[in-house]
Amino acid sequence: MSLINDLLSLHLSDSTENVIAEYIWIGGSGKDLRSKARTLPELVPDPHALPKWNFDGSSTGQAPGEDGEIILYPQAIFRDPFRRGKNILVMCDAYTPSGEAIPTNKRFNATKIFSHPDVVAEEPWYGIEQEYTILQKDIRWPIGWPVGGFPPPQGPYYCGVGAEKAFGRDIANAHYKACVYAGINISGINGEVMPGQWEFQVGPVVGISAADELWVARYILERITEIAGVVLSFDPKPIEGDWNGAGAHTNFSTKSMRYDGGIDVIKNAIKKLSLWHKEHISEYGEDNERRLTGRHETADINTFSWGVGNRGASIRVSRDTEKAGKGYFEDRRPASNMDPYVVTSMIAETTILWKPT
Ligand code: ADP
Ligand code: MN
Ligand code: MN
Ligand code: MN
Repeated sequence: MSLINDLLSLHLSDSTENVIAEYIWIGGSGKDLRSKARTLPELVPDPHALPKWNFDGSSTGQAPGEDGEIILYPQAIFRDPFRRGKNILVMCDAYTPSGEAIPTNKRFNATKIFSHPDVVAEEPWYGIEQEYTILQKDIRWPIGWPVGGFPPPQGPYYCGVGAEKAFGRDIANAHYKACVYAGINISGINGEVMPGQWEFQVGPVVGISAADELWVARYILERITEIAGVVLSFDPKPIEGDWNGAGAHTNFSTKSMRYDGGIDVIKNAIKKLSLWHKEHISEYGEDNERRLTGRHETADINTFSWGVGNRGASIRVSRDTEKAGKGYFEDRRPASNMDPYVVTSMIAETTILWKPT
């Protein structure tokens, strides 16, 4: 193994200008991540100056017809925490050879919303809390849980420490550092209410970059769990019964919400969200009805509600925001498996662009 490790830690820049770029894209399910690597003659800082590339869409469930070729457009560059040095991760979106966004390319529509002058002027910030569950390989049962059985009930696990309370901390920590290295605005991590479940937060990040960063953070987590031989799950309710589900709370503010008097803008935005509740829920992640039961710190999926400091509401305004009269709100409805391109752009569209008649 030591020779392999020596080779893995080779510094390419000691001997060549070449860099390795790992091109990442979202696969046919709209949730799976795919990637492949290529050599570039030198490091280019602008993603749009990187070469486009292609892949075989018939192998990812993304081929529309006879011709399975799909084109990858580089959109955002991160440092590669696995290959290190000058090597990079490249988040891409996908198009047909004639230049049309393919159906799973949700980024394309999101950029239309985020490049609208009214949205740009409001500098929308997002902080996304990504919850996830780590499963034992082969049996797909949470790590730290006895095989064929259950751990003691919830209570000691949230932000817990100790061998009977925190399972998978090294994975969460390795991911945290790798994200900081990559250039992702990861703001923190914590152990969750359900044992074997963790959370990381990305944000605040402006506009389309929030979703780019969240997708790459998910990619890095898939790679780390791959190395560790455990299974990453974004199922919104991995275990039925008295166990918390996994969400992706989306914290949001605009310039006018962050400015004096912002609380009124926040209340107005919440009012608008209430009128689009059904439409948002239908895009906020698959199987979310198993999670949004009205129990376990969730609101019922069919009922829109909001409140200050209320973790059982669809939307929560923090006490700090109420006190300051400005700040942000938290949309607690998105499931852990949501597409952040869809969720972030919908929130901007409804609260900034949509005008009630
Ligand atoms: P919770 O109390 O719900 O667990 P977290 O601390 O996990 O909240 O996550 C809050 C997220 O909101 C963080 O990613 C943080 O960076 C982000 N955030 C903070 N201020 C703002 C803001 N003004 N607009 C949008 N997001 C914000
Ligand atoms: Mn949190
Ligand atoms: Mn949480
Ligand atoms: Mn939260």
